[in-house]
Amino acid sequence: MTYYNFAAGPAMLPVEVIAQIKEDLPVYKNSGMSVMEISHRSKLYQDLYEETKADMLDLMKLDPAEYDVLFLTGGATQQFTTIPLNIARKYRRIALVDSGHWAQRAGEDAQKLPNLEVDTVASAKDNNYTAVPEIPTVFAKDYDYVHITTNNTIMGTAYRDDQVPDLDLPLVADMSSNFLGQVYDFNKFDLIYAGAQKNLAPAGLTVLIIKKDLLVKHDDLPGYFDFATEAAKKSALNTPPVFQVYVAGLALKWLKKQGGVAGIAKVNQEKADLLYNTLAETKNFESKVDENSRSIMNVPFVTGNPDLDAEFVKEAEAHHLLNLKGHRLVGGMRASIYNAMPLEGVQALCDFIKDFDAKH
Ligand code: PMP
Repeated sequence: MTYYNFAAGPAMLPVEVIAQIKEDLPVYKNSGMSVMEISHRSKLYQDLYEETKADMLDLMKLDPAEYDVLFLTGGATQQFTTIPLNIARKYRRIALVDSGHWAQRAGEDAQKLPNLEVDTVASAKDNNYTAVPEIPTVFAKDYDYVHITTNNTIMGTAYRDDQVPDLDLPLVADMSSNFLGQVYDFNKFDLIYAGAQKNLAPAGLTVLIIKKDLLVKHDDLPGYFDFATEAAKKSALNTPPVFQVYVAGLALKWLKKQGGVAGIAKVNQEKADLLYNTLAETKNFESKVDENSRSIMNVPFVTGNPDLDAEFVKEAEAHHLLNLKGHRLVGGMRASIYNAMPLEGVQALCDFIKDFDAKH
């Protein structure tokens, strides 16, 4: 029986990608070495870097003359600090949209930098983060940028493209948990960042897509933290995560075969609809998220009884449905159904939910 991994991250990779890694692993492109052993200064890596970057921009329908891609390490978490260091320079003030836990972490870390102000300009606190707050378009003060989190991994809420306005000031987005899983007009964003371990590659790679006009060299920043320096060095100022970039490259080729972002998003919507509809038909389970803010990537659900939740998670494991335990902040269950999760995996989960519901 097939196993399905519903973890929020590190998460499932497409089975085709794993098969390709297995095939390529002993020797990469007749080099006599595995991809894990090649030099980041070699032409092999430089070609891989250029191709992966080009595929990413192509999938996002972004003009390479306007946007650059950085392959960094340190996770999305490091970007909570590095982005303000680079971008919050004129007014030293950031407008933060508080859509949940990770948005708050981004704000808290930025706030620790000297002489930097973080204003929460919208918050979902009043609805206990069950819906995304409206992104303001008019601001009372000058801000260097507006920071949003497009998909809230823990709360299970997300912005649809039509809920993201075209702003007059730079828009920065943490897209860690719906990167290339949902359709956006990516041109609305000036900077997008994502930890790769949910929807792209193994942990250890952070992607940053940045408008080139933001790539201004800051001599007061160490090179590693300066986006313009990293861009000039093609993300190889120090040793980049070559293996992760290689896997990301495979995942992007796979995504192209699925019809790109629009193609996969259609399947993702179908998977999410199936799961939300199944939950709605049960007597024991419920999703607390507002219908208009539902994430198609992370679906938290509860029975209201922690003992029953624990029994569900345990029995699900026995049915090869893995990692369904909810985040400790919200409890219950969470099914993360990123790009790599096939419809059959969600179908298997829904069948199990129905069986469990009938017995309890
Ligand atoms: N932002 C979001 C939306 C996340 O879901 C996570 C991880 N769960 C992070 C940031 C932190 O990412 P990382 O572990 O890559 O630092």
